Amino acid sequence: MSDTTRGYLRIATEEAFAPPELITLYRDMLDRGIASHGDPGFQSLMGFYTGHRSERTEFVFDRLQDLGAARIADMDATGIDHQVISLTSPGTQILGTADAVAMATLANDQLAEAVRRHPDRFSGLTAIAPQDPEHAAKEIERGHRELGLKGVIINSHTQGEYLDDPKFWAIFEAAEALDTPVYLHPNTPSPRMIGPLLDAGLDGAIYGFGVETGMHLLRIITAGVFDRFPRLKMVVGHLGEALPFWLYRLDYMHGASVRAGRYPFMKPLERNVSDYLRENVWVTTSGMPWAPAIMFCREVLGPERVLYAMDYPYQYAPDEVTAQDNLPLSSADLKVFYQTTAEELFHL
Ligand code: CA
Repeated sequence: MSDTTRGYLRIATEEAFAPPELITLYRDMLDRGIASHGDPGFQSLMGFYTGHRSERTEFVFDRLQDLGAARIADMDATGIDHQVISLTSPGTQILGTADAVAMATLANDQLAEAVRRHPDRFSGLTAIAPQDPEHAAKEIERGHRELGLKGVIINSHTQGEYLDDPKFWAIFEAAEALDTPVYLHPNTPSPRMIGPLLDAGLDGAIYGFGVETGMHLLRIITAGVFDRFPRLKMVVGHLGEALPFWLYRLDYMHGASVRAGRYPFMKPLERNVSDYLRENVWVTTSGMPWAPAIMFCREVLGPERVLYAMDYPYQYAPDEVTAQDNLPLSSADLKVFYQTTAEELFHL
């Protein structure tokens, strides 16, 4: 990618798509009530997007399925030079294992084809079916080596299961070996967690996504995943799902719990909880274009840990780009924020 007159490229790193085949599958599941009892979050989220007709839902659904002219026109209208695109939540993870494996393959083939058509404008992340960790590890390798994809997308929990369970660690092993980052994107809270959030209408992007995904990343850290895979790189959106604000207390209370032996399964870690968040994790600004929070994350995590994302098409707001252009940063720092951190992390 070449430079522009503004001095930096705007690379947006948490941008969603959905194959039409996946939307059809979701509609069918919702019509038949398959997921409504097992996963109230899926019912809430995709029931809304598939069942409600409004300008917002029609725009989101149309653009999710577009990997061509309409998406590029939206990028041009907001000055986005390049999107790192990934399969929308919950992706394959709500499906049965065979369907999930097939859908991951189909999504990756479609996305890779779009990247081949528009290499200057698009990069993609590899979707997987965590339901089959061994296949997922192979798909990460296929995505990386054969399809030219630049990382891995996982939409948080898989039917209530979390990646700190060692049965999933073949996924981390493959990502670490290939030096390809794992983007842990939100899902609606898992069935055991969603109750009081859903009661209050707080299960989605307003708050539930953040607490669920932040907890998921913490589980990964405290289970020792980064001690086992020290070169593993993970990315989370929404300025770290609130975890940067918690660094002090996480270190204090994790240390206290371990020393007291409060939980037999909670083992000492090689580093502080905050060290993993600073050294193994990158955060994107998706949906959080707010200067005080961005500047705070740059201060406590380091400027080269915080990178731009829009959250297209869910949060497509041109004035948010302007707000981030106007961060109190030098043009050199804006280039780190918008461009070079993404280029280095995803090997663009
Ligand atoms: Ca998103």
